[in-house]
Amino acid sequence: MLTGAYNLRMTSKDPLPQSRHLATAIPGPKSTEAIKRRTDAVPAGLGMAIPVIIERAHDAILEDIDGNRIIDLGSGIGVVNVGNSAERVVNRVIDAVQAFTHTNFTTAPYMGYIEVCEALNRLTPGTHKKKTILQNSGAEAVENAIKIARHATKRPAVIVFEHAYHGRTNLTMALTAKNLPYKEGYGPFAPEIYRMPYPYSYRWLGNPATITEDALEMVIHKIEKEVGAHNVAAILIEPITGEGGFLVPPKGFLAGLQKFASENGAVFIADEVQTGFARTGNLFAVEAEGVVPDMIVTAKGIAGGLPLAAVTGRAEIMDSSHVGGLGGTYGGNPIACAAALGAIETIEEEKLVERAAHIGKVLGDFLRALASKYPVIGEVRGRGAMQAIELVKPGSKDPNPEAMQKVVKYCQSKGVLVLTAGTYGNVIRFLPPLVITDELLADALGVLEEGFASL
Ligand SMILES: *Cc1c(COP(=O)(O)O)cnc(C)c1O
Repeated sequence: MLTGAYNLRMTSKDPLPQSRHLATAIPGPKSTEAIKRRTDAVPAGLGMAIPVIIERAHDAILEDIDGNRIIDLGSGIGVVNVGNSAERVVNRVIDAVQAFTHTNFTTAPYMGYIEVCEALNRLTPGTHKKKTILQNSGAEAVENAIKIARHATKRPAVIVFEHAYHGRTNLTMALTAKNLPYKEGYGPFAPEIYRMPYPYSYRWLGNPATITEDALEMVIHKIEKEVGAHNVAAILIEPITGEGGFLVPPKGFLAGLQKFASENGAVFIADEVQTGFARTGNLFAVEAEGVVPDMIVTAKGIAGGLPLAAVTGRAEIMDSSHVGGLGGTYGGNPIACAAALGAIETIEEEKLVERAAHIGKVLGDFLRALASKYPVIGEVRGRGAMQAIELVKPGSKDPNPEAMQKVVKYCQSKGVLVLTAGTYGNVIRFLPPLVITDELLADALGVLEEGFASL
């Protein structure tokens, strides 16, 4: 019954057009009033990228309470890769919520959880035997990956990198690199975390021709001298940094780390929370380099917007924990699992891996042409539908967060939502839903170009 009601709403009665539309200024009067209530009711520490209140959304369009239709180039931070309220996700969620809402998987199991784990064991890189545990958020999954790796190796140390972002809990703040806004005033942080240099090619002071070898040598030397390789439980890295500004490691860097980890009995963990689920033109970003991690952490794009996260790893590592050592009340909630199965089905049936590669080509070509016209764009980088531009003072590499803010505000005022990132607060990142139409993307990029022309 409810499925029918949904179809009626989305398809015949009142469909949400996939086009940009400004009904009022942004923010409009209703949003402006509602934002006062927001300010009164929620703490100041919660940021707000765009000051509008969303009423509904579908695929790549967000509609606010004033009737503005905004093009979404952020996907709720890389979450709705399959589009907002994707049909297969919605229909499976409706069926699941009518069947039951919760049992707790460690109290009384259900098939949705098992099927998501089977899918991840099948879809993640590597033909070895794998097992998966489900959680609620990326940070919780990263915590579990570290917890399981420490238990399996009986070692304490965790290796992380400059520009890394792994979450906002105490352990994941410690794993995250950037102080403001993520860590300032929130310490003390968890111990036994060791931060290594990252080969940020645009700002690398050494020889660009030998960046991979040089960076690996620095990292391995530091681990051996400052930590002791035999103390390392895990090496944790994002295959492309997310909040760190879409830094793509030079070819061979990830493979070199993986080799070092396997030679030294450490668990190599890829944090694919932002890069996973077709985002980069592969189902998982490590595939582009043929790297097979021992563990892979996923979240964001996994369930079309519902809260779900996972750790998938080698069976012998995942099975090291005693019964009762792992768990959580809501991890792998049946509604979120149904959403994940709908999202995975959408990725496969709509060929969203290929679609991400296509978006990457269109977006990358456009941004490179823009960079050749506007010297404020210092670098274009990324992979697939995960592209970014780093803004600098023309003629230098000095970060230019002011120009970034101006362009972002311009885009917002015209109904295009883009996100920011980067250690220096000077990166505009693009994470469009993978179902965005070519026309909608072209419209959004036209607005972006106007933003640069307005500087
Ligand atoms: C967002 C993110 C996290 C944290 O995920 P949450 O669901 O916000 O806890 C961890 N790692 C990476 C790479 C992320 O982008």
